[in-house]
Amino acid sequence: MKIGFIGLGNMGGPMAANLSAAGHTVVGFDTVAKPDGLTMADTAAGAVADADVVITMLPNGDILRAVAAEIHPAMKADAVHLDCSTVDVESARAVAELAEAAGLRAVDAPVSGGIGGATNGTLTFMAGGSEEGFAAVSPLFDTMGQKAVHCGPSGNGQAAKICNNMILGVTMIATCEAFVLADKLGLDRQAMFDVVSTSSGYSWSMNAYCPAPGIGPQSPADNDYTPGFAADLMLKDLRLSQMAAIAADADTPMGEVATTLYERFVENEDGRGRDFSAMLTRFSNRGRD
Ligand code: NAD
Repeated sequence: MKIGFIGLGNMGGPMAANLSAAGHTVVGFDTVAKPDGLTMADTAAGAVADADVVITMLPNGDILRAVAAEIHPAMKADAVHLDCSTVDVESARAVAELAEAAGLRAVDAPVSGGIGGATNGTLTFMAGGSEEGFAAVSPLFDTMGQKAVHCGPSGNGQAAKICNNMILGVTMIATCEAFVLADKLGLDRQAMFDVVSTSSGYSWSMNAYCPAPGIGPQSPADNDYTPGFAADLMLKDLRLSQMAAIAADADTPMGEVATTLYERFVENEDGRGRDFSAMLTRFSNRGRD
């Protein structure tokens, strides 16, 4: 396939490299990044003119909307705009409407798996859009990832992503505060892990990404909380969940508390640039007030 790729940062760079290595013709554009070995265009419109599929991997919904307004008029009729960024549901739906009005197809497919998944081609995609649009880009999901789930119409990929990450933020906080309560009750961390990881308190945060150093599987906690999945990105996703909850009139009190705690951790404490599981150190360093 001929692919235009806009946004070649930490995630987009390796995703584009994998598509190119699989034999697709990739033309990239980024306002800053200039990855080695990839054909680059001088403008976004130049990167998409010949493309069957245009992939965007951008920081947020406002940038996505601006880039979509620029590239849609330059794309071939019936080409697909596949957005893999994590953005608000409303922007995803607005961009899909813009695409359809321009005679294009749109799929929103945010990813899980981080930079490691992007590099190794093992991302999970959660996709929104028509059956037909999803089918058209499925071969690309197979190259860049290990799994793609079609979640329904446009915006539903973003909805799945922020619901998943809201659960993740909440369970990570619950796991961290429980470890600190256990510490203060004199319960050994290994014993705590052995019980909880095989009891009803288990979760991905405990079992696969244990926030306590030296306990459970290898995780960023064992590497001085070097991300991994940065607390800043968790905060971004939690804020998106709260924007969506307000717009949809959904009551999400746990998501709200998790957002407030990650906001404090990143903006007022020492969370910026650290893995999101470093929340454990925050609870360790304080008492009840
Ligand atoms: P990044 O900041 O490394 O990359 C974004 C790129 O977009 C940058 O290279 C930037 O120069 C480029 N860009 C910004 N505005 C542009 C424009 N107008 N035109 C062209 N290029 C432009 O970010 P990232 O870590 O690659 O994340 C990209 C997206 O993936 C985000 O939405 C993020 O939330 C999501 N995501 C990231 C991770 C992760 O672990 N990094 C995991 C899952 C999802």
